[in-house]
Amino acid sequence: MSYTQEILERVSTMYPNETLFIQAVREVMETLEPAISRKEDLYRREALLERLTTPDRIIQFRVTWLDDNGNAHVNNGYRVQFNNAIGPYKGGLRLHPSVNLGTLKFLGFEQIFKNSLTGLPIGGGKGGSDFDPKGKSDREVMSFCQNFMRELYRHIGADIDVPAGDIGTGAREIGYLFGEYKRLTGLYEGVLTGKGLSYGGSLVRTQATGYGLLYLTDCMMKNLGGLDGKTAVVSGAGNVAIYAIEKAWQLGAKPVTCSDSTGWIYDPDGIDVALLKDVKEVRRERLTAYAAERPNAVYHEGKGVWSTPCDVALPCATQNELNLDDAKLLVANGCRAVAEGANMPTTIEATQYFQQNGILFCPGKASNAGGVATSALEMSQNSERLSWTFDEVDAKLKSIMENIYANISATSEEYGHPGNFVMGANIAGFEKVAAAMLAQGVY
Ligand code: NDP
Repeated sequence: MSYTQEILERVSTMYPNETLFIQAVREVMETLEPAISRKEDLYRREALLERLTTPDRIIQFRVTWLDDNGNAHVNNGYRVQFNNAIGPYKGGLRLHPSVNLGTLKFLGFEQIFKNSLTGLPIGGGKGGSDFDPKGKSDREVMSFCQNFMRELYRHIGADIDVPAGDIGTGAREIGYLFGEYKRLTGLYEGVLTGKGLSYGGSLVRTQATGYGLLYLTDCMMKNLGGLDGKTAVVSGAGNVAIYAIEKAWQLGAKPVTCSDSTGWIYDPDGIDVALLKDVKEVRRERLTAYAAERPNAVYHEGKGVWSTPCDVALPCATQNELNLDDAKLLVANGCRAVAEGANMPTTIEATQYFQQNGILFCPGKASNAGGVATSALEMSQNSERLSWTFDEVDAKLKSIMENIYANISATSEEYGHPGNFVMGANIAGFEKVAAAMLAQGVY
């Protein structure tokens, strides 16, 4: 049995309930084979893949917080410090009722490769809680965030582990978390990214994941005439989706859908970004509020964005939101390219279907890396006590995304599978981390 198959079996046997983690490991192991086989003896001797698939450390803790009526509630808090071979642990905090250890191990594992692909010195980590910020007052969210940080602060630091936002963790949550860290430690340091501009945040960080996704998609579509004049179908209506839609417009495409966990919008005139921001970022309302203010837009309950004919599909909501049936529908309706804004939104079967049908497909660990890359730029600015201009950061983001595309493309060719960007991203991300792990000795 090959080393990569052994590792997949090991992970599946050891953590049978962590289905998302197993899925993420499977996708990586199935494509790493050509790189592993070149140095298999060395990697086996060093137990490199066992180490790469086992977090350095998992921190789990109780978070008790008070609601507005003075009642106490308890949630689970986690931080998975997966791998710091190439830099401090870096990755977001997810606040969503579905969060469990398996979710965070999948996200932390993906983060190792993604962070490596940015070319910046950041390791992989992820954290969060099963707390649901939806429907909570600002005070309740503050109480949760402060109590979450009361445990987390002892495990993080600007040169140790630097968390950021993710689903359910936006600017408001990062503000409360940062305030509590500062109070507990007395340190004013870049321990979190995604901070507000008045206290150490970076311009472009809010837009970075969505913008970066479109910069990479534009590169990927060069041979198909770029994004200009193309129709894009987007899922999600959160941070990634909103700024993907904004940049799609700027690059000449027309984004016609968005979605949230209850339904989706088809807007034949193209999504009105200003209205979407107002509904989601300011009023924190459902998409029905968007439809009510756009006469031609149609709101549908449930799932369904992938039934809309398009040239490009951009899944930007959550994991496994695009399955084989969706992939068949997209291909049948003329879709030519898919780039993931969310983490692992496409199932393995759907990914394979796209690849077998000649659809350009870019995995999230490459196409959504602009967010964490700009977080790393925020860390640089915090270290040198300076703030760069919007244009400066945006230019760096664009060049990072172009480099990622060039890197995954060249790697897919080097290993004999040109255009297989899943393989290109996994191998290119892996090789840098593996070299650093080998150089630093067994530990
Ligand atoms: P947000 O919380 O801002 O938005 C998430 C969006 O997805 C919302 O519209 C939400 O709908 C929808 N959604 C969330 N969970 C589900 C679900 N289980 N079923 C259906 N819809 C769902 O998160 P982000 O935009 O920040 O993150 C989106 C994805 O992008 C995630 O996979 C995240 O890990 C990934 N990502 C984010 C980065 C960032 O910088 N923010 C960086 C790289 C990746 P509703 O509001 O109804 O819950």
